[in-house]
Amino acid sequence: MELLRRKIREKGIVVDEDVLKVDSFLNHCIDPKLMQAIGKEFADRFRHDGVTKILTIESSGIAPAVFTGLELDVPVVFAKKDLSRNMSCDIYDACVHSFTKGRDYMVCVSKEYLNDTDKVLIIDDFLANGRAAAGLGELVTMSGASVAGIGVVIEKGFQKGGSLLREMGFRVEALAIIDSMSENGIIFRNEEEKRK
Ligand code: 5GP
Repeated sequence: MELLRRKIREKGIVVDEDVLKVDSFLNHCIDPKLMQAIGKEFADRFRHDGVTKILTIESSGIAPAVFTGLELDVPVVFAKKDLSRNMSCDIYDACVHSFTKGRDYMVCVSKEYLNDTDKVLIIDDFLANGRAAAGLGELVTMSGASVAGIGVVIEKGFQKGGSLLREMGFRVEALAIIDSMSENGIIFRNEEEKRK
């Protein structure tokens, strides 16, 4: 997605060879026009897959997920990272290892919002080692629903998450795939080249 790649080039900050900071349009300050385009792109890629629900994880997955839900006209559920007191005890939960924080945490979803007739599109902001997306996949499996696919805004192609999830049989769609990054710049995988 050229618009996204341009934005990453212009505004992304390479913190180190593994971490990209995109606070100015995705992770802290949100660019609604870009999110709208992202939602449309995900929707176009999954429009014929019978998606009935979108599942994401708080907080940075919510914006792209909501715009995708708007396009596909389906509800968006976000997995919570803390079991708040007002949440029902009837939950599905899974353990996820946080790439950015380097520790494990629980993600949970109320059983009310996922059921066995659902076809779920998982959306997240980044794909690194695949732990967040795999955790969301576990929640879907627990509910008896099926996974229509996984959509990530930015895949870091030099980390193992993408190949792991694809080997597990998931269809993974990334709107921008970074092959490498350093203080000298960001190299994207050229999707157009690949499709020829
Ligand atoms: P994974 O579970 O695939 O290892 O990591 C994905 C999660 O970690 C995403 O939900 C995202 O919040 C965070 N993450 C992974 N890599 C990056 C990165 O380079 N930059 C930012 N901002 N977040 C990242």
